[in-house]
Amino acid sequence: MVKYIFVTGGVLSSVGKGIVTASIGKMLQMRGFKVTAVKIDPYVNVDAGTMNPYMHGEVYVTDDGGETDLDLGWYERFLDLNLKKENNITTGQVYKAVIEKERRGSFLGKCVQIVPHITKEIKDRIRSVAADSNVDVILTEVGGTVGDIEGLPFLEAIRQMRLEEGYENTLYVHVALVPILDVTKEMKTKPLQHSVNELRRIGIQPDIIVARCQKMIDMETLRKIALFGTIPENAVFCSYNVESVYQVPLILDEQGMGEFICKRLGLAGHKPIRDEWIRFVDATLNPKYEVKVALVGKYAGLADSYVSMKEALLHAGAACQTKIDIHYIEAETFERNLDKLQILKDFNGIFVPYGFGSRGAEGKIMAIRFARENNIPFLGICYGFQLAVIEFARNVCGLEGANSTEIDPKSPHPVIDFMPEQRGIEYKGATMRLGAHKILLKKDTIAYALYRKDEIYERHRHRFEVNLDYVEKLEKMGIVFSGKSPDGRRMEILELPEHYFFFASQFHGEFKSRPGKPDPEYYGFVKACLDKKMGKPRPEF
Ligand code: GLN
Repeated sequence: MVKYIFVTGGVLSSVGKGIVTASIGKMLQMRGFKVTAVKIDPYVNVDAGTMNPYMHGEVYVTDDGGETDLDLGWYERFLDLNLKKENNITTGQVYKAVIEKERRGSFLGKCVQIVPHITKEIKDRIRSVAADSNVDVILTEVGGTVGDIEGLPFLEAIRQMRLEEGYENTLYVHVALVPILDVTKEMKTKPLQHSVNELRRIGIQPDIIVARCQKMIDMETLRKIALFGTIPENAVFCSYNVESVYQVPLILDEQGMGEFICKRLGLAGHKPIRDEWIRFVDATLNPKYEVKVALVGKYAGLADSYVSMKEALLHAGAACQTKIDIHYIEAETFERNLDKLQILKDFNGIFVPYGFGSRGAEGKIMAIRFARENNIPFLGICYGFQLAVIEFARNVCGLEGANSTEIDPKSPHPVIDFMPEQRGIEYKGATMRLGAHKILLKKDTIAYALYRKDEIYERHRHRFEVNLDYVEKLEKMGIVFSGKSPDGRRMEILELPEHYFFFASQFHGEFKSRPGKPDPEYYGFVKACLDKKMGKPRPEF
């Protein structure tokens, strides 16, 4: 029998529901249960792929090529799972499926309605993920805030699931903000009371309330929440501010949340095994060393745009007992003022992340040149890889005007070009080269030393790639393409053997990075930043 846990949010969005959901999963895993997690996004987009990262945060790519909400990244990192596109349900998907069925005539003349047809589609999707992943517990997080118009069909669907699955198999968790007033320093529960009321109006009585607060809530606040929420006091928990999000499962479990959930759902597990997680958390909180990394990007104003990259750097840092001090720098700064490039001298490493379009591209190219010429450890991901090829083509191979056709369609040297199969594609959604693909590694390279394998599978999300017409020239001048697709036609990794550490990949290693299991390219970069700072020769890995 599968157990269903539903997580809703109140008062404000961005209160950390995703982290609480992932943390509940972690507490259950620590007790020996198999879990999975689903994120519901009530927006009308079919997936996150067409949304601007600057407004919505990064698009998280799954192994099977799903372009999903970044909360799936938190589930994967906390739970060490590889989820599927089906683990992200949106209004767009649900309506698309129901309308397709209607057009096929599957509803046999009936009037197709939100209840029961849309809600059935939602329930079917949640159940099908549970069945496919063969789990003990499935967590479903409903995005947005209770009271949003677009969230209503989803809340109605999860309300019905209690009736159909039974009280003992379903649990509702409500996460809501408890603000502290500046002047009086009082913890205010009124907004939370309102969101619980809103939930009840829809017909859902929460079993657990998680107060999201700057500090641990005091007894009086806890009692008030229990009283107005109509739940026992031991069903109220607090997710307070901590230094690292990876502490959240531990602080909630200390308050008894894991025990409470297991008891309530009749889950008999073993005593929680927390050692490995605690070891990782300790490593992130008590680093011995520190390195300063410049992340030269286009969406630098919103840290969530690069969240998986930031976490991958943190995981790699933990493995080297090193704190990574990331400075987000807008690439256009360098375009406006060349002298600004000198600030890069103070960094132990330069990182150029993914990106789209021409804004800031020249600034990134300048930063890459600076890293290459000053022997500063460099890591480039996806667009960062492509721009490193452009920089090398222009400044080492002397190919004036070399560019990507994404930036300059008329470039005399289109060293980065549209993939042939991308020509003629009109739809923007889900049409990039997506998900995990096989890559063969070349022996006696940094890549081989880092991955220690002949072949790897890494996740992709791009439309452009290295133009084969230029590979020979680039290789002759010193670039080593140490990773390629099995047919040898796609360049996947580049490195410069003469440089201290100059490494870039067409794929995104960050999506596979996990606490305690850092991704090899991020690990290589961080280790190089640290060793170079300490004046050591380049690490052997
Ligand atoms: N814009 C580039 C492309 O489409 C790079 C994409 C990326 O960085 N994810 O190929």
